[in-house]
Amino acid sequence: MNDQLYQNYFIFTGKSPDDYFRGNLWVRDGHIVKVFGSEDPIPKLSWASQTNGEGKTLLPGMINAHTHLYSTFACGLTVRPFHPGSFEEMLEQLWWKLDRALLSDDVYWSAKTAAMRLIDHGVTTIIDHHSSPYCVQGTGALLSRALIEESGMRAVLSIETSDRDGAKIRDLEIEENLALREEKQKFPGKMGALFGLHASFTLEEETLKRVGQWDYPVHIHIGEGDEDGKLHEEKYGCSAFERLQRYDVCKPNSLLVHGIRLSNKDTEALKKSGCRIAFNPQSNQNNGAGLPHYERFKERAIPVLLGNDGFGFDFSRDIRALLISQHHVGQSPLGFSLEDLFEVVFRNNAAYASALLGETVGVIEEGAVADFVTFRYMPITPISEKNFLGHWFFGILESGKPEEVVIGGNVLKTGGVFRKSPEEMVREAEKVSRKLWERMEK
Ligand SMILES: [Zn+2]
Repeated sequence: MNDQLYQNYFIFTGKSPDDYFRGNLWVRDGHIVKVFGSEDPIPKLSWASQTNGEGKTLLPGMINAHTHLYSTFACGLTVRPFHPGSFEEMLEQLWWKLDRALLSDDVYWSAKTAAMRLIDHGVTTIIDHHSSPYCVQGTGALLSRALIEESGMRAVLSIETSDRDGAKIRDLEIEENLALREEKQKFPGKMGALFGLHASFTLEEETLKRVGQWDYPVHIHIGEGDEDGKLHEEKYGCSAFERLQRYDVCKPNSLLVHGIRLSNKDTEALKKSGCRIAFNPQSNQNNGAGLPHYERFKERAIPVLLGNDGFGFDFSRDIRALLISQHHVGQSPLGFSLEDLFEVVFRNNAAYASALLGETVGVIEEGAVADFVTFRYMPITPISEKNFLGHWFFGILESGKPEEVVIGGNVLKTGGVFRKSPEEMVREAEKVSRKLWERMEK
């Protein structure tokens, strides 16, 4: 047995907004055995390791509930022509051009370098939505190798299914989603699977009918652009959510992403469906897509999660953007509180990821996995359990990257230094991405 002791930390457990105290953590074989106060006696064991936190702040590792690691090589990319007049043109001119050019090397290195950046920023679990229509077979195994086996993080995977590239590719995408359920058996507690679908407006009736037959929660974009709003109504005579419901696509525990253009009727139906909704405020603003309104989901007790839609790796920025953007949406600084933010970031993201992984993640408590981050935070104003959330939002989140990142008891970053040397990885990724960009120009 491998017993690790982490002592002398200020611990925020994530269980409730005021669960903050000075204490210690006992970790055995990747799981938390005990969380105890600094006054409590330390068990006499032959510890495999003892770490003195020197008063650092320890929090649960962050969970990004919706991302696209396949977009890693878009950083610095110029595409021509680029003058999107609609959401679909934005997809055609940039994202679909990129994902159609991806080969297995790109898929692997995009994921591997993204994992490095995510862990560096304290993200320990992701829910990814992958797309590479001309490199479908085997991508689940490629992603699990890059993310889970080699990088040490937890990941829920889904492969985007769409009819935009024809029935043959769609069939491969369906097969690959079904294969994910086998793949996850290899990584108990570390990998989860959702059936990936692009969005209603790129899916044919036959595809929806097929997906609806499986008892498999889906991961799908909804109501991001007008193609899933006004234009969808004109083309199909119903809303995107109604169309998915017609084929029983949204099983309980499905993840719907964005939800900007959901009507009140849709939101009522969503409440009964047992699905979650993931907000992505930075991406929505960058695309000029508009923003969803938290209040509409909160009043119906629909769990809202937070993702970043592939918009970078520093998740603290998305957390901050969520609160600020909802103040803008509600035209009030009171409409979305720090407690609301706690509910989304700690409670909802953690509960959903735990359900998909079959392990308790995102919380510091007995029995949960030992996924946590530490910050050398020196508050310049009084801090206690009563105002911890304020310090977290205005202080810790902007204090930079965590000093330590631990996933399942494995120390992946310590003393502010990433354990695996990133230089070689970055050099290889740069070579691969250069070739990808050249292919895209042809
Ligand atoms: Zn997305």
